[in-house]
Amino acid sequence: MTSHIPAHDGAPEFPARSYEFTPYIDCKNWIAGQWRDAASGGALEVMNPRHGKKMGSVVLSGIEDVNAAVQAAKSAFPGWKSTPVKERAQVLFRLKQLMERDLEELAWLLSHENGKVYGQAKGSVLKGIECVEMGTALQNMIAGGRLEVSRGVTCRVVYEPLGVCAGITPFNFPSMVPLWMLPQALLGGNTFVLKPSEQVPYSAMKLALLLREAGLPDGVLNLVNGARPAVEGIVGHPEIAAVGFVGSTRVARIVYAEGSKQGKRMLCLGGAKNHLVVVPDADLEMSSRDIVASAFGCSGQRCMAAAVMIAVGDVQRIIDKMVEVANDMVLGQEMGCIINAESVERITRYIDEAEKMGAKVIVDGRNANVEGADGFWVGPTIIDQVTPDMPAACEEIFGPVLTIVHVDTLDEAIALENKSPYGNAASIFTSSGGVAEYATSRFQAGMTGVNIGVPVPREPFSFAGWNDSKFGHGDMTGMDGFRFWTRPKKVTGKWAPQTDQNWMS
Ligand code: NAD
Repeated sequence: MTSHIPAHDGAPEFPARSYEFTPYIDCKNWIAGQWRDAASGGALEVMNPRHGKKMGSVVLSGIEDVNAAVQAAKSAFPGWKSTPVKERAQVLFRLKQLMERDLEELAWLLSHENGKVYGQAKGSVLKGIECVEMGTALQNMIAGGRLEVSRGVTCRVVYEPLGVCAGITPFNFPSMVPLWMLPQALLGGNTFVLKPSEQVPYSAMKLALLLREAGLPDGVLNLVNGARPAVEGIVGHPEIAAVGFVGSTRVARIVYAEGSKQGKRMLCLGGAKNHLVVVPDADLEMSSRDIVASAFGCSGQRCMAAAVMIAVGDVQRIIDKMVEVANDMVLGQEMGCIINAESVERITRYIDEAEKMGAKVIVDGRNANVEGADGFWVGPTIIDQVTPDMPAACEEIFGPVLTIVHVDTLDEAIALENKSPYGNAASIFTSSGGVAEYATSRFQAGMTGVNIGVPVPREPFSFAGWNDSKFGHGDMTGMDGFRFWTRPKKVTGKWAPQTDQNWMS
């Protein structure tokens, strides 16, 4: 069952090892171990956003395709469920090795479809590998849980899979976000239907091939590509037990409500507006470099990006240094591009509007371009003197734009952070332990940081925000992820009548 499929058995390869434009094969659905067209015959262009050119296409699936994937997953479920957990874990161990073997390929592929620069693409694949590693560790973390609860009576707990589960993922982390879900769901014994973002379908394609090579039986993971109709097919499907979603708050809210109405277990992560509070005793080098890296890494297209810096009192020396560091960034080498032309328009609109409302654009990334790459670009942008009521200060821009709001006291800064409907991340920059404790204990966010621009919890600490950044209970990764994709069954029993019985014997 876990026989190894030879590497690249006629499977598509992704040869790019530089930013040079490279066309790819068309991306189909992966159902029961076969590449299939969508029943509708529809397809969408997939762009290389760095070059602004079509690199391939992706099929647009509907309910028929979702049905086919669910039936494949349903057929594979009994075999996968009855596979011992240690054998399931071996597939993940092999996946980790294969991802390390193909790290360069995975990173370049991701860079081509998403537009991240190579180093940041590689970093995001490495974070995906860390999630796989967490999956391999789960077999040891879920052992035990047996107790003599009364004389001669024992109780134990086992975690059983839910059945066919599904994941719907965004464009910004094409291999990491699917790997927030797959290790826990698969190790837990579920079979899975993944709907990657239609803007970046290739990384999931490669992941499916690697999982097959790692020995995952056909039908355990299926890919259904497409957009809204595919999502609606998944969320409304009566045979899908649980859905993980990661994307914008607007869609997360709808998907969560619809799936919950259908009685499914739902966990939907949404958008963000992350606040970094900087007080005067903050370290100059550490703060300025971290804040710039947080705001402009991955071109600000990450849910953990710094969006609002709240400057408490006089922190001008830090702002000056941030301007210097941001101006030194080489677009196209240290910072990648924006996913599409509409996003460039949206980001530019927010900058223009803030400027019109009286804010000062002190680093201006508008009209940026990169020689030899005619794609979608906005450079690092810092807007100072932003007031909290401006849309740029409170709405998710999802681009390389950092707004700076000035306040007099730490309490005002915390109140401002607390007012945001989102609650993904918040950080404090200070040299004082007391200030750090005061702020982190008051932030209304699921992931908080001290002198950290991107306070992503590393595994096994789990990932998810609060408030409008998450709909559902628990976190997406770590042990919470495993609990989400499984249900506990308690077995209480005895094997001999007891002479010294009590009420539970
Ligand atoms: P998106 O919401 O547009 O798309 C996410 C997924 O939903 C995609 O697979 C897409 O095909 C599907 N979708 C889009 N519109 C839909 C609709 N009307 N009905 C049903 N399905 C629909 O998000 P995106 O632009 O791909 O990603 C960026 C967003 O994701 C940002 O808001 C970002 O903050 C968020 N994000 C959040 C996290 C987190 O952990 N909270 C992580 C990554 C990204």
